[in-house]
Amino acid sequence: MTPDRLETQTDKSSAVRGRRGGVKFVLLHHGGCSGGGFHYRIDADGRVNTELDESERGQHPRSIGVVVDGDFDDGAPNDAQLAVLRRLLLKLKLRYPAAELGAHRQVRGGVETTCPGKRFPMQALAAWSRTGLLDERDEVLRRDFESQYSKI
Ligand SMILES: [Zn+2]
Repeated sequence: MTPDRLETQTDKSSAVRGRRGGVKFVLLHHGGCSGGGFHYRIDADGRVNTELDESERGQHPRSIGVVVDGDFDDGAPNDAQLAVLRRLLLKLKLRYPAAELGAHRQVRGGVETTCPGKRFPMQALAAWSRTGLLDERDEVLRRDFESQYSKI
């Protein structure tokens, strides 16, 4: 179950750069987001650009922010963007095993927003993050494990 509201708030006292504690959420945004502070941007051609180092605080504390270019109140992300997004989420899952996937609009205490957009397939991605993503992660870990032991 994805919680309705996520337990991270925009902390106005933390003007300090740097992350306090581990990464708790990977938060998705769209190009129509009114805020900034994204770690990764996926452009319309499905290329990933790094905008902030993961060690830096982005729009929300204890979160990695991923923005997908486009206004998804009006349209949906294209297949290239979604494929690249899933690959990026797999990498982040391997790096931050406990981090949950969430939508910007789930963050408590912020401005009301539809981000990452009414037509962004958030439910499908959230469902995948609890099933297919874990299978893909296990497959990567299994290959790593086997490649280590084949050296013995
Ligand atoms: Zn947003």
